[in-house]
Amino acid sequence: MTQALDLLKTAVGDAGWLSGEDMATYSRDWRHVYQADPLLVLRPKNTQEVGEVVRICSRHGITIVSQGGNTGLAGGAVAYHNRPSVIVATTRLNSILDVDPEGFTISAEAGVTIERLQDAARQVNRELAIDFGARGSATVGGAVSTDAGGINVLRSGTMRDQVLGLEVVLPDGRVWDGLRALRKDASGYGLKHLFIGAEGTLGVVTKVVLKLEPRRVYNQSFLAAVADFDRLSELYALAQETAQQSLSAFELLPDLGVNRVCEKFPSLYRPMATVADWYVLGRISSNEPADELLDGLLATASGRNLIHNAVVAQSASQEENLWMLRDELPPEFLFSIKGAKFDAAVPVNHVASYYNRVAEFAATLNPAPVVYAFGHVGDGNLHLYLFNWSAETGQPQAMTEEQRLMIERRVDQITWDFGGTISAEHGVGQELTLRMAEQKPEVELDLLARIKRAIDPDGLFNPGRGAQGSWE
Ligand SMILES: Cc1cc2nc3c(=O)[nH]c(=O)nc-3n(C[C@H](O)[C@H](O)[C@H](O)COP(=O)(O)OP(=O)(O)OC[C@H]3O[C@@H](n4cnc5c(N)ncnc54)[C@H](O)[C@@H]3O)c2cc1C
Repeated sequence: MTQALDLLKTAVGDAGWLSGEDMATYSRDWRHVYQADPLLVLRPKNTQEVGEVVRICSRHGITIVSQGGNTGLAGGAVAYHNRPSVIVATTRLNSILDVDPEGFTISAEAGVTIERLQDAARQVNRELAIDFGARGSATVGGAVSTDAGGINVLRSGTMRDQVLGLEVVLPDGRVWDGLRALRKDASGYGLKHLFIGAEGTLGVVTKVVLKLEPRRVYNQSFLAAVADFDRLSELYALAQETAQQSLSAFELLPDLGVNRVCEKFPSLYRPMATVADWYVLGRISSNEPADELLDGLLATASGRNLIHNAVVAQSASQEENLWMLRDELPPEFLFSIKGAKFDAAVPVNHVASYYNRVAEFAATLNPAPVVYAFGHVGDGNLHLYLFNWSAETGQPQAMTEEQRLMIERRVDQITWDFGGTISAEHGVGQELTLRMAEQKPEVELDLLARIKRAIDPDGLFNPGRGAQGSWE
Protein backbone atom coordinates (compact mmCIF):
# COMPACT_ATOMS: atom_id res chain seq x y z
CA MET A 1 0.00 0.00 0.00
CA THR A 2 2.87 2.40 0.77
CA GLN A 3 4.09 2.00 -2.79
CA ALA A 4 0.64 2.83 -4.16
CA LEU A 5 0.40 5.93 -1.99
CA ASP A 6 3.82 7.10 -3.15
CA LEU A 7 2.74 6.65 -6.77
CA LEU A 8 -0.45 8.64 -6.12
CA LYS A 9 1.50 11.48 -4.50
CA THR A 10 3.89 11.60 -7.43
CA ALA A 11 1.00 11.61 -9.92
CA VAL A 12 -0.47 14.81 -8.48
CA GLY A 13 2.70 16.55 -7.26
CA ASP A 14 3.32 18.19 -3.90
CA ALA A 15 0.41 20.64 -4.08
CA GLY A 16 -1.96 17.87 -5.04
CA TRP A 17 -2.37 15.72 -1.94
CA LEU A 18 -3.24 15.96 1.75
CA SER A 19 -2.85 13.50 4.60
CA GLY A 20 -3.36 13.26 8.36
CA GLU A 21 -5.11 16.17 10.05
CA ASP A 22 -5.09 18.22 6.86
CA MET A 23 -7.82 15.90 5.59
CA ALA A 24 -10.24 16.81 8.43
CA THR A 25 -12.71 18.89 6.41
CA TYR A 26 -12.77 16.27 3.63
CA SER A 27 -13.38 13.42 6.07
CA ARG A 28 -16.83 14.31 7.31
CA ASP A 29 -19.97 15.42 5.57
CA TRP A 30 -21.71 18.79 5.78
CA ARG A 31 -24.19 17.57 8.41
CA HIS A 32 -21.47 15.85 10.48
CA VAL A 33 -23.39 12.59 10.26
CA TYR A 34 -20.80 10.59 8.28
CA GLN A 35 -17.09 10.51 9.04
CA ALA A 36 -14.21 8.36 7.78
CA ASP A 37 -10.55 9.05 7.01
CA PRO A 38 -9.39 8.26 3.47
CA LEU A 39 -5.85 7.03 2.81
CA LEU A 40 -5.17 10.36 1.11
CA VAL A 41 -7.03 13.31 -0.29
CA LEU A 42 -5.91 13.81 -3.88
CA ARG A 43 -6.41 17.11 -5.64
CA PRO A 44 -5.49 16.59 -9.30
CA LYS A 45 -5.14 19.76 -11.37
CA ASN A 46 -6.31 18.44 -14.72
CA THR A 47 -8.05 15.54 -16.46
CA GLN A 48 -4.76 13.76 -17.20
CA GLU A 49 -3.87 13.67 -13.51
CA VAL A 50 -7.33 12.34 -12.65
CA GLY A 51 -6.78 9.56 -15.21
CA GLU A 52 -3.39 8.67 -13.72
CA VAL A 53 -4.85 8.58 -10.19
CA VAL A 54 -7.64 6.28 -11.36
CA ARG A 55 -5.21 3.90 -13.11
CA ILE A 56 -3.01 3.63 -10.00
CA CYS A 57 -6.02 3.03 -7.75
CA SER A 58 -7.34 0.42 -10.18
CA ARG A 59 -4.02 -1.50 -10.15
CA HIS A 60 -3.94 -1.50 -6.33
CA GLY A 61 -7.64 -2.10 -5.60
CA ILE A 62 -8.17 1.28 -3.93
CA THR A 63 -11.71 2.65 -4.09
CA ILE A 64 -12.31 6.22 -5.24
CA VAL A 65 -14.75 8.68 -3.74
CA SER A 66 -15.14 11.90 -5.73
CA GLN A 67 -15.74 15.02 -3.72
CA GLY A 68 -16.75 18.50 -4.85
CA GLY A 69 -17.97 21.06 -2.32
CA ASN A 70 -18.91 18.32 0.18
CA THR A 71 -22.37 19.88 0.65
CA GLY A 72 -24.21 16.70 -0.37
CA LEU A 73 -26.87 15.58 2.07
CA ALA A 74 -26.71 11.80 1.59
CA GLY A 75 -23.17 10.96 2.73
CA GLY A 76 -21.98 10.03 -0.78
CA ALA A 77 -18.78 12.11 -0.75
CA VAL A 78 -17.24 10.61 2.40
CA ALA A 79 -14.60 7.83 2.35
CA TYR A 80 -15.18 4.22 3.43
CA HIS A 81 -14.63 2.82 6.91
CA ASN A 82 -14.13 -0.72 5.73
CA ARG A 83 -12.30 -0.37 2.40
CA PRO A 84 -9.10 1.42 1.48
CA SER A 85 -10.22 4.56 -0.31
CA VAL A 86 -8.97 7.89 -1.49
CA ILE A 87 -10.92 11.08 -1.94
CA VAL A 88 -10.49 12.67 -5.35
CA ALA A 89 -11.33 16.30 -4.61
CA THR A 90 -12.07 18.60 -7.54
CA THR A 91 -10.81 21.71 -5.69
CA ARG A 92 -8.13 22.45 -8.29
CA LEU A 93 -10.32 21.71 -11.32
CA ASN A 94 -11.59 25.23 -10.96
CA SER A 95 -11.48 27.04 -14.32
CA ILE A 96 -14.38 28.43 -16.27
CA LEU A 97 -13.45 27.43 -19.80
CA ASP A 98 -15.89 29.36 -21.96
CA VAL A 99 -18.99 31.53 -21.67
CA ASP A 100 -20.84 31.82 -24.97
CA PRO A 101 -23.73 34.32 -24.93
CA GLU A 102 -24.72 33.54 -28.53
CA GLY A 103 -24.61 29.79 -28.11
CA PHE A 104 -26.25 30.19 -24.67
CA THR A 105 -23.70 27.86 -23.06
CA ILE A 106 -21.11 27.86 -20.32
CA SER A 107 -18.28 25.29 -20.00
CA ALA A 108 -16.31 24.71 -16.85
CA GLU A 109 -14.15 22.27 -14.95
CA ALA A 110 -15.98 20.18 -12.38
CA GLY A 111 -14.76 22.01 -9.27
CA VAL A 112 -16.21 25.43 -10.17
CA THR A 113 -18.94 26.47 -7.75
CA ILE A 114 -22.51 27.09 -8.85
CA GLU A 115 -22.22 30.70 -7.65
CA ARG A 116 -19.19 31.38 -9.86
CA LEU A 117 -21.07 30.02 -12.87
CA GLN A 118 -24.07 32.20 -12.01
CA ASP A 119 -21.84 35.29 -11.78
CA ALA A 120 -20.06 34.50 -15.05
CA ALA A 121 -23.40 34.07 -16.83
CA ARG A 122 -24.71 37.39 -15.47
CA GLN A 123 -21.67 39.20 -16.79
CA VAL A 124 -22.75 38.38 -20.35
CA ASN A 125 -26.42 39.09 -19.64
CA ARG A 126 -27.37 35.42 -19.36
CA GLU A 127 -28.66 33.28 -16.51
CA LEU A 128 -27.81 29.86 -15.14
CA ALA A 129 -31.08 28.14 -14.28
CA ILE A 130 -29.75 26.10 -11.36
CA ASP A 131 -29.84 27.74 -7.93
CA PHE A 132 -29.96 26.49 -4.35
CA GLY A 133 -28.85 27.46 -0.85
CA ALA A 134 -25.43 25.78 -1.04
CA ARG A 135 -24.53 27.68 -4.25
CA GLY A 136 -21.39 29.21 -2.73
CA SER A 137 -19.74 25.84 -1.97
CA ALA A 138 -21.47 23.22 -4.14
CA THR A 139 -19.60 22.49 -7.37
CA VAL A 140 -20.96 21.90 -10.83
CA GLY A 141 -19.47 18.37 -10.81
CA GLY A 142 -21.29 17.59 -7.56
CA ALA A 143 -24.52 19.16 -8.75
CA VAL A 144 -24.39 17.11 -11.98
CA SER A 145 -23.60 13.97 -10.00
CA THR A 146 -26.57 14.43 -7.67
CA ASP A 147 -28.87 15.81 -10.41
CA ALA A 148 -29.40 18.79 -8.13
CA GLY A 149 -32.70 20.65 -8.22
CA GLY A 150 -33.29 23.80 -6.19
CA ILE A 151 -35.59 26.75 -6.54
CA ASN A 152 -35.97 27.17 -10.31
CA VAL A 153 -36.89 23.60 -11.19
CA LEU A 154 -40.53 24.36 -11.85
CA ARG A 155 -39.50 26.68 -14.71
CA SER A 156 -36.26 25.14 -15.97
CA GLY A 157 -35.99 21.58 -14.68
CA THR A 158 -33.18 19.93 -12.71
CA MET A 159 -29.48 19.71 -13.52
CA ARG A 160 -30.29 16.92 -15.98
CA ASP A 161 -32.16 19.49 -18.07
CA GLN A 162 -29.19 21.89 -18.09
CA VAL A 163 -26.37 19.54 -19.08
CA LEU A 164 -25.41 19.55 -22.75
CA GLY A 165 -22.11 17.71 -22.50
CA LEU A 166 -19.69 16.05 -20.08
CA GLU A 167 -16.11 14.87 -19.88
CA VAL A 168 -15.67 11.88 -17.58
CA VAL A 169 -12.69 9.83 -16.42
CA LEU A 170 -13.88 6.22 -16.47
CA PRO A 171 -12.91 3.47 -14.01
CA ASP A 172 -10.28 2.10 -16.42
CA GLY A 173 -8.62 5.52 -16.63
CA ARG A 174 -9.86 6.31 -20.15
CA VAL A 175 -11.45 9.70 -20.78
CA TRP A 176 -14.91 9.87 -22.33
CA ASP A 177 -15.02 13.17 -24.23
CA GLY A 178 -18.70 13.95 -24.46
CA LEU A 179 -18.14 17.67 -24.07
CA ARG A 180 -20.55 18.67 -26.82
CA ALA A 181 -22.67 21.80 -26.82
CA LEU A 182 -25.48 20.23 -28.85
CA ARG A 183 -29.17 20.84 -28.16
CA LYS A 184 -30.06 17.81 -30.23
CA ASP A 185 -28.24 14.54 -30.68
CA ALA A 186 -30.31 11.52 -31.60
CA SER A 187 -27.29 9.34 -32.31
CA GLY A 188 -27.97 6.53 -29.86
CA TYR A 189 -28.00 6.02 -26.10
CA GLY A 190 -27.83 9.30 -24.19
CA LEU A 191 -24.61 8.40 -22.39
CA LYS A 192 -24.33 11.66 -20.48
CA HIS A 193 -27.53 10.76 -18.62
CA LEU A 194 -25.80 7.77 -17.06
CA PHE A 195 -23.36 10.05 -15.27
CA ILE A 196 -25.95 12.66 -14.24
CA GLY A 197 -27.24 11.61 -10.83
CA ALA A 198 -24.71 8.73 -10.64
CA GLU A 199 -23.20 10.16 -7.44
CA GLY A 200 -19.65 9.28 -8.45
CA THR A 201 -20.40 5.57 -8.91
CA LEU A 202 -19.42 5.44 -12.60
CA GLY A 203 -16.44 7.79 -12.91
CA VAL A 204 -15.13 11.28 -12.16
CA VAL A 205 -16.87 14.11 -14.00
CA THR A 206 -14.07 16.49 -14.99
CA LYS A 207 -15.73 19.03 -17.32
CA VAL A 208 -19.28 20.16 -18.02
CA VAL A 209 -21.13 22.21 -20.67
CA LEU A 210 -24.39 23.71 -19.43
CA LYS A 211 -27.22 25.63 -21.06
CA LEU A 212 -27.71 29.29 -20.28
CA GLU A 213 -30.99 31.19 -20.44
CA PRO A 214 -31.71 34.79 -21.44
CA ARG A 215 -31.45 36.99 -18.36
CA ARG A 216 -34.76 38.12 -16.90
CA VAL A 217 -34.44 41.75 -15.88
CA TYR A 218 -37.19 41.77 -13.26
CA ASN A 219 -37.22 39.29 -10.39
CA GLN A 220 -39.93 40.03 -7.90
CA SER A 221 -40.86 37.84 -4.97
CA PHE A 222 -43.90 37.64 -2.74
CA LEU A 223 -44.51 36.03 0.60
CA ALA A 224 -48.10 34.97 1.29
CA ALA A 225 -49.55 33.72 4.57
CA VAL A 226 -51.44 30.56 3.63
CA ALA A 227 -55.07 30.57 4.83
CA ASP A 228 -55.99 27.01 3.91
CA PHE A 229 -53.11 24.53 3.73
CA ASP A 230 -55.38 21.81 2.36
CA ARG A 231 -55.92 23.98 -0.73
CA LEU A 232 -52.19 24.55 -1.35
CA SER A 233 -52.34 23.03 -4.83
CA GLU A 234 -55.20 25.42 -5.73
CA LEU A 235 -52.94 28.34 -4.78
CA TYR A 236 -50.13 26.85 -6.85
CA ALA A 237 -52.39 26.31 -9.86
CA LEU A 238 -53.64 29.90 -9.60
CA ALA A 239 -50.05 31.20 -9.48
CA GLN A 240 -49.09 29.13 -12.54
CA GLU A 241 -52.18 30.17 -14.50
CA THR A 242 -51.67 33.85 -13.69
CA ALA A 243 -47.92 34.04 -14.17
CA GLN A 244 -47.62 31.50 -16.99
CA GLN A 245 -43.96 30.87 -17.78
CA SER A 246 -42.74 33.66 -15.49
CA LEU A 247 -43.34 31.83 -12.20
CA SER A 248 -39.79 30.79 -11.35
CA ALA A 249 -40.16 29.61 -7.74
CA PHE A 250 -42.92 28.42 -5.42
CA GLU A 251 -41.61 27.44 -2.00
CA LEU A 252 -43.27 26.45 1.27
CA LEU A 253 -42.02 27.94 4.55
CA PRO A 254 -43.23 26.86 8.02
CA ASP A 255 -43.77 29.48 10.73
CA LEU A 256 -41.63 27.43 13.12
CA GLY A 257 -38.70 27.68 10.71
CA VAL A 258 -39.15 31.40 9.98
CA ASN A 259 -39.18 32.11 13.73
CA ARG A 260 -36.09 30.07 14.33
CA VAL A 261 -34.19 31.65 11.42
CA CYS A 262 -35.03 35.15 12.72
CA GLU A 263 -33.82 34.17 16.20
CA LYS A 264 -30.59 32.77 14.83
CA PHE A 265 -29.87 35.61 12.39
CA PRO A 266 -30.87 38.89 14.08
CA SER A 267 -30.22 40.86 10.88
CA LEU A 268 -33.17 39.07 9.23
CA TYR A 269 -36.74 40.14 9.93
CA ARG A 270 -40.31 38.92 9.48
CA PRO A 271 -41.64 40.81 6.49
CA MET A 272 -45.25 41.02 7.72
CA ALA A 273 -47.14 41.04 11.00
CA THR A 274 -49.60 38.35 9.93
CA VAL A 275 -48.76 35.00 11.49
CA ALA A 276 -49.85 31.73 9.86
CA ASP A 277 -48.68 28.13 10.14
CA TRP A 278 -47.40 28.22 6.55
CA TYR A 279 -46.18 30.76 4.03
CA VAL A 280 -45.59 30.50 0.32
CA LEU A 281 -42.59 32.28 -1.16
CA GLY A 282 -43.01 32.77 -4.89
CA ARG A 283 -40.98 34.60 -7.47
CA ILE A 284 -41.86 36.06 -10.84
CA SER A 285 -38.97 36.43 -13.29
CA SER A 286 -39.65 38.30 -16.51
CA ASN A 287 -38.63 41.19 -18.70
CA GLU A 288 -41.46 43.39 -17.55
CA PRO A 289 -42.30 44.69 -14.08
CA ALA A 290 -44.53 42.18 -12.32
CA ASP A 291 -46.39 44.56 -9.97
CA GLU A 292 -49.74 44.39 -11.77
CA LEU A 293 -49.55 40.66 -12.26
CA LEU A 294 -48.70 40.14 -8.59
CA ASP A 295 -51.46 42.50 -7.39
CA GLY A 296 -53.96 40.52 -9.46
CA LEU A 297 -52.67 37.15 -8.30
CA LEU A 298 -52.65 38.04 -4.63
CA ALA A 299 -56.07 39.77 -4.78
CA THR A 300 -57.62 36.71 -6.43
CA ALA A 301 -55.94 34.38 -3.93
CA SER A 302 -57.23 36.48 -1.06
CA GLY A 303 -60.73 36.65 -2.60
CA ARG A 304 -60.80 32.85 -2.76
CA ASN A 305 -59.64 32.61 0.87
CA LEU A 306 -56.42 30.89 -0.14
CA ILE A 307 -54.22 33.45 1.65
CA HIS A 308 -54.66 35.77 4.63
CA ASN A 309 -52.21 38.41 3.61
CA ALA A 310 -49.10 38.90 1.46
CA VAL A 311 -46.14 41.20 0.88
CA VAL A 312 -44.23 41.89 -2.31
CA ALA A 313 -40.52 42.74 -2.10
CA GLN A 314 -39.94 46.35 -3.16
CA SER A 315 -36.15 46.43 -3.18
CA ALA A 316 -33.12 44.21 -3.62
CA SER A 317 -32.59 44.11 0.15
CA GLN A 318 -36.19 43.01 0.75
CA GLU A 319 -35.74 40.31 -1.89
CA GLU A 320 -32.58 39.19 -0.15
CA ASN A 321 -34.28 39.09 3.25
CA LEU A 322 -37.09 36.90 1.88
CA TRP A 323 -34.69 34.44 0.27
CA MET A 324 -32.36 34.31 3.26
CA LEU A 325 -35.38 33.26 5.34
CA ARG A 326 -35.85 30.43 2.85
CA ASP A 327 -32.18 29.47 2.39
CA GLU A 328 -31.62 29.08 6.13
CA LEU A 329 -34.55 26.69 6.69
CA PRO A 330 -32.61 23.37 6.46
CA PRO A 331 -33.03 21.94 9.95
CA GLU A 332 -29.63 20.38 10.61
CA PHE A 333 -28.11 23.48 12.19
CA LEU A 334 -31.37 25.29 12.93
CA PHE A 335 -32.35 22.71 15.56
CA SER A 336 -28.88 21.19 16.15
CA ILE A 337 -30.28 17.79 16.97
CA LYS A 338 -30.79 14.59 15.01
CA GLY A 339 -34.25 13.53 13.93
CA ALA A 340 -35.69 11.57 11.01
CA LYS A 341 -35.04 13.40 7.75
CA PHE A 342 -36.77 12.96 4.37
CA ASP A 343 -36.26 14.48 0.92
CA ALA A 344 -39.56 13.33 -0.54
CA ALA A 345 -41.45 14.16 -3.71
CA VAL A 346 -45.06 13.35 -4.52
CA PRO A 347 -47.30 14.54 -7.37
CA VAL A 348 -47.63 18.33 -7.04
CA ASN A 349 -51.33 18.27 -6.25
CA HIS A 350 -50.85 15.81 -3.36
CA VAL A 351 -48.35 17.75 -1.26
CA ALA A 352 -50.85 18.89 1.40
CA SER A 353 -52.57 15.52 1.78
CA TYR A 354 -49.17 13.82 1.93
CA TYR A 355 -48.00 16.16 4.69
CA ASN A 356 -51.30 15.67 6.54
CA ARG A 357 -50.92 11.88 6.37
CA VAL A 358 -47.41 12.08 7.82
CA ALA A 359 -48.61 14.46 10.55
CA GLU A 360 -51.52 12.12 11.41
CA PHE A 361 -49.07 9.24 11.75
CA ALA A 362 -46.71 11.36 13.92
CA ALA A 363 -49.61 12.29 16.22
CA THR A 364 -50.16 8.60 17.02
CA LEU A 365 -46.64 8.29 18.49
CA ASN A 366 -45.54 8.78 22.07
CA PRO A 367 -43.62 11.05 22.20
CA ALA A 368 -45.29 12.63 19.16
CA PRO A 369 -42.59 14.30 17.04
CA VAL A 370 -42.90 17.72 15.44
CA VAL A 371 -43.26 17.41 11.66
CA TYR A 372 -41.13 20.22 10.27
CA ALA A 373 -41.55 20.66 6.53
CA PHE A 374 -40.41 23.09 3.88
CA GLY A 375 -39.31 22.99 0.30
CA HIS A 376 -39.93 23.23 -3.38
CA VAL A 377 -43.65 22.45 -3.33
CA GLY A 378 -44.05 23.70 -6.91
CA ASP A 379 -42.13 20.51 -7.78
CA GLY A 380 -44.00 18.37 -5.26
CA ASN A 381 -40.76 18.25 -3.21
CA LEU A 382 -41.08 18.42 0.58
CA HIS A 383 -38.11 18.27 2.92
CA LEU A 384 -39.50 16.70 6.07
CA TYR A 385 -37.81 16.51 9.42
CA LEU A 386 -39.45 14.76 12.35
CA PHE A 387 -37.94 15.50 15.74
CA ASN A 388 -38.95 15.41 19.39
CA TRP A 389 -39.78 18.63 21.15
CA SER A 390 -39.89 19.25 24.86
CA ALA A 391 -42.91 21.31 25.89
CA GLU A 392 -41.15 22.03 29.20
CA THR A 393 -37.94 23.52 27.79
CA GLY A 394 -39.36 24.65 24.44
CA GLN A 395 -36.34 22.99 22.85
CA PRO A 396 -35.73 19.99 20.57
CA GLN A 397 -35.05 16.71 22.34
CA ALA A 398 -33.06 13.63 21.39
CA MET A 399 -34.72 10.80 19.45
CA THR A 400 -33.75 7.19 20.06
CA GLU A 401 -32.27 5.22 17.16
CA GLU A 402 -35.19 2.79 17.44
CA GLN A 403 -37.77 5.58 17.14
CA ARG A 404 -35.93 7.12 14.19
CA LEU A 405 -35.77 3.84 12.27
CA MET A 406 -39.44 3.10 12.92
CA ILE A 407 -40.40 6.61 11.69
CA GLU A 408 -38.26 6.17 8.57
CA ARG A 409 -39.96 2.89 7.72
CA ARG A 410 -43.46 4.28 8.15
CA VAL A 411 -42.90 7.61 6.39
CA ASP A 412 -41.14 5.86 3.48
CA GLN A 413 -44.21 3.67 3.12
CA ILE A 414 -46.53 6.69 3.15
CA THR A 415 -44.34 8.31 0.47
CA TRP A 416 -44.59 5.26 -1.78
CA ASP A 417 -48.33 4.99 -1.12
CA PHE A 418 -48.59 8.49 -2.64
CA GLY A 419 -46.64 7.35 -5.71
CA GLY A 420 -43.66 9.36 -4.49
CA THR A 421 -39.91 9.03 -4.10
CA ILE A 422 -37.76 9.20 -0.96
CA SER A 423 -34.94 10.87 -2.91
CA ALA A 424 -36.24 13.93 -4.72
CA GLU A 425 -33.02 15.89 -5.18
CA HIS A 426 -30.36 14.99 -2.61
CA GLY A 427 -29.38 11.67 -4.14
CA VAL A 428 -29.07 8.28 -2.48
CA GLY A 429 -25.47 8.26 -1.24
CA GLN A 430 -25.00 5.86 1.63
CA GLU A 431 -28.01 7.21 3.49
CA LEU A 432 -30.75 5.70 1.34
CA THR A 433 -29.08 2.75 -0.39
CA LEU A 434 -30.88 0.04 1.56
CA ARG A 435 -34.17 1.90 1.54
CA MET A 436 -34.00 2.15 -2.29
CA ALA A 437 -34.39 -1.61 -2.47
CA GLU A 438 -37.93 -1.10 -1.16
CA GLN A 439 -38.75 1.74 -3.54
CA LYS A 440 -37.62 0.37 -6.86
CA PRO A 441 -38.93 -2.71 -8.66
CA GLU A 442 -36.55 -5.66 -9.07
CA VAL A 443 -36.23 -5.16 -12.82
CA GLU A 444 -35.10 -1.58 -12.32
CA LEU A 445 -32.55 -2.51 -9.63
CA ASP A 446 -31.24 -5.29 -11.85
CA LEU A 447 -30.75 -2.91 -14.80
CA LEU A 448 -29.02 -0.35 -12.58
CA ALA A 449 -26.67 -2.99 -11.14
CA ARG A 450 -25.85 -4.26 -14.66
CA ILE A 451 -24.97 -0.75 -15.82
CA LYS A 452 -22.71 -0.38 -12.79
CA ARG A 453 -20.96 -3.69 -13.50
CA ALA A 454 -20.56 -2.87 -17.20
CA ILE A 455 -18.81 0.44 -16.56
CA ASP A 456 -17.07 -0.29 -13.25
CA PRO A 457 -16.59 -4.10 -13.17
CA ASP A 458 -14.12 -3.95 -10.27
CA GLY A 459 -16.40 -1.79 -8.15
CA LEU A 460 -13.83 0.99 -7.73
CA PHE A 461 -16.09 4.02 -7.67
CA ASN A 462 -18.25 4.59 -4.62
CA PRO A 463 -19.16 0.87 -4.41
CA GLY A 464 -22.30 -0.09 -2.51
CA ARG A 465 -23.64 3.45 -2.69
CA GLY A 466 -26.38 4.91 -4.85
CA ALA A 467 -29.65 3.34 -5.95
CA GLN A 468 -28.06 0.12 -7.23
CA GLY A 469 -25.79 -0.17 -4.18
CA SER A 470 -27.81 -2.82 -2.39
CA TRP A 471 -27.66 -5.05 -5.52
CA GLU A 472 -23.92 -4.90 -6.05
C1 LIG B 1 -27.71 24.38 2.72
C2 LIG B 1 -27.91 23.38 1.61
C3 LIG B 1 -28.97 23.54 0.73
C4 LIG B 1 -29.15 22.63 -0.30
N1 LIG B 1 -30.19 22.84 -1.14
C5 LIG B 1 -30.36 22.00 -2.17
C6 LIG B 1 -31.44 22.21 -3.07
O1 LIG B 1 -32.25 23.11 -2.92
N2 LIG B 1 -31.55 21.35 -4.10
C7 LIG B 1 -30.67 20.31 -4.28
O2 LIG B 1 -30.81 19.57 -5.24
N3 LIG B 1 -29.67 20.08 -3.44
C8 LIG B 1 -29.49 20.90 -2.39
N4 LIG B 1 -28.46 20.67 -1.52
C9 LIG B 1 -27.63 19.45 -1.68
C10 LIG B 1 -26.93 19.36 -3.01
O3 LIG B 1 -27.06 18.02 -3.47
C11 LIG B 1 -25.50 19.62 -2.99
O4 LIG B 1 -25.34 20.90 -2.45
C12 LIG B 1 -24.80 19.59 -4.39
O5 LIG B 1 -25.58 19.09 -5.42
C13 LIG B 1 -23.61 18.72 -4.29
O6 LIG B 1 -22.50 19.42 -4.78
P1 LIG B 1 -21.10 19.23 -4.07
O7 LIG B 1 -20.09 19.81 -5.00
O8 LIG B 1 -21.10 19.76 -2.69
O9 LIG B 1 -20.96 17.64 -4.07
P2 LIG B 1 -20.41 16.67 -2.94
O10 LIG B 1 -21.19 16.81 -1.70
O11 LIG B 1 -18.96 16.85 -2.83
O12 LIG B 1 -20.73 15.26 -3.61
C14 LIG B 1 -22.04 14.82 -3.78
C15 LIG B 1 -22.01 13.49 -4.56
O13 LIG B 1 -21.51 13.70 -5.88
C16 LIG B 1 -20.29 12.98 -6.09
N5 LIG B 1 -19.40 13.87 -6.82
C17 LIG B 1 -18.98 15.12 -6.47
N6 LIG B 1 -18.21 15.64 -7.43
C18 LIG B 1 -18.12 14.70 -8.40
C19 LIG B 1 -17.45 14.63 -9.67
N7 LIG B 1 -16.74 15.65 -10.13
N8 LIG B 1 -17.57 13.50 -10.39
C20 LIG B 1 -18.29 12.45 -9.95
N9 LIG B 1 -18.95 12.46 -8.77
C21 LIG B 1 -18.87 13.57 -8.02
C22 LIG B 1 -19.79 12.59 -4.72
O14 LIG B 1 -19.04 11.38 -4.75
C23 LIG B 1 -21.09 12.43 -3.95
O15 LIG B 1 -21.63 11.16 -4.17
C24 LIG B 1 -28.27 21.55 -0.46
C25 LIG B 1 -27.20 21.39 0.43
C26 LIG B 1 -27.02 22.29 1.45
C27 LIG B 1 -25.87 22.09 2.37
